[in-house]
Amino acid sequence: MSFYIKPERNGDIDSTSITYRAGKAYPILRGDRFTKTNDDILQDGVVLIDNVCYHITNCEQGFKVYQGKEITDPVLKDWGAVVTKSNNSLFRLNQSRLDGELCDWFYSNVAGIYVSMSGGKLSDRLDCLNPFRSQKFVGKISITKSHEDRVRERETAMKVGKAIRMIFPELSDTALGQVVDKYNLEFGSKDFTLHKSNDPKVFASVYKEENHAPMGNPKTTNLRKSIACSCMRYSFEKQSHHPAYIYGSGDFTLYYTKDSQGRTGSRCVVYDTDKTDKPQAGPIYGVCEHSMNKLQDALDKIGAECVNPDWRGAKLLRINHGDGVIGPYLDVEPRSLAIVNDKYLEVTECGDYDASCYSGVLGDSEYCMDCGEPTHEDNARWYHDDVFCEDCFYERYDYCEWTDDYYPHEDMVMVQPQEIYVWRDHENVIYVEDLDEFWDSDECVYSDKLDKWIPNDQLHDLGYFECEWTNDIYKEDEWAETVDNEIVAISELKSRGWAKNDDGLWYDLESELSEQDGLEEDSTEGDK
Ligand SMILES: [Zn+2]
Repeated sequence: MSFYIKPERNGDIDSTSITYRAGKAYPILRGDRFTKTNDDILQDGVVLIDNVCYHITNCEQGFKVYQGKEITDPVLKDWGAVVTKSNNSLFRLNQSRLDGELCDWFYSNVAGIYVSMSGGKLSDRLDCLNPFRSQKFVGKISITKSHEDRVRERETAMKVGKAIRMIFPELSDTALGQVVDKYNLEFGSKDFTLHKSNDPKVFASVYKEENHAPMGNPKTTNLRKSIACSCMRYSFEKQSHHPAYIYGSGDFTLYYTKDSQGRTGSRCVVYDTDKTDKPQAGPIYGVCEHSMNKLQDALDKIGAECVNPDWRGAKLLRINHGDGVIGPYLDVEPRSLAIVNDKYLEVTECGDYDASCYSGVLGDSEYCMDCGEPTHEDNARWYHDDVFCEDCFYERYDYCEWTDDYYPHEDMVMVQPQEIYVWRDHENVIYVEDLDEFWDSDECVYSDKLDKWIPNDQLHDLGYFECEWTNDIYKEDEWAETVDNEIVAISELKSRGWAKNDDGLWYDLESELSEQDGLEEDSTEGDK
């Protein structure tokens, strides 16, 4: 297609630098602002003159001509852009971007991190390709692949990696993998689909944490809760059935959402039978707002009571376990279950089982951590959060009189001289090296010099004595007796200038000498 550019007759076309010939046909280039009037008169477009783009606009006197800015970005070239939007764009979007959230994500998570790219350059690419998360093809990104597609309003859904590769061909394979991972973390689990079931196995499977989609950051209320906080999320491997299994009586329907990988996004148990005037929904648990909204929409559609649900009269499966039954913490009050017959329990005001416990088994009994036997709560022994039958408890733990508490065997020691077992870390328990025994520190003396504890009543037997001057403990080879019959360490005596006399007793040699000096002085003075 070509148009003729007519020069203005009288004056001021800005065309001084353009050497075109009047009457020559020039090829018209593509553009979203390439417009014609109803009479097929060109209003606005781009022509290529000597391989340079010129933007032309029809004004009263003829066409005004502006030089276009050459496209250098290969992505834009491939797409079919000929003038950037910064230059009175040909391809400026005449609609806003279809997925602002996704585009923002590209700005803050890819550009400048995995590829160096100016915001303007990315902006041009996003305006042309206009990527968005496809509603029709869940999990894919749709892109306007070329200018022809833009004109025909055609978008192509493609795999996330392929779409990102189109926008950012500069990405290395490794970087692309990382970007796709980040994308999946951010957006991947948002493609939830709605399901419902009353199959007990589905209840059990949907409840288990191992089957949950990655957590988002949901706001929580009484009616909407984070699935990561549900006390029924565990696998309950030690019992024959998951507690949620018993909802599968036929009276309850589980509404839930799954992501593209089949992982649970949200769930809600609804009591829905002819016995109720409308469906009675428990709280919604979910990994994110999005998945919970999807369930809420479904509940609204069936007109479910969500604020004050009543489950009284609803049946649950009865599965015996020990002397109790398998059962969940009921989300709705009253949390009490009555035995109906061999097969069923029923929600009631005041039944046989309290359904407000998290253990997965309802009934009077606790279940021993070690042997698994049911143990009536009167006989069950607790150690922190663990519960044991009496036999198993005493196999593990011993009583410490000093602390009035129980400890694992390995934390207990026999203490002397009482000869009882006490907690090793009690402040009075000390270790006596010489005897390789634990002792009560009140019955021992500590020597700073020797840096050890010695039992009071075994001081001499073990070859020690206490210095009467310093009250410190010394080995026997330091033993000495003074002329005043005091027992003192030899090193102590020597340091103060004492000496041993012929009887083997120690005396104060220094002061005796100075006394003699004194006498001499006195006599000298006396001579005066
Ligand atoms: Zn036991």
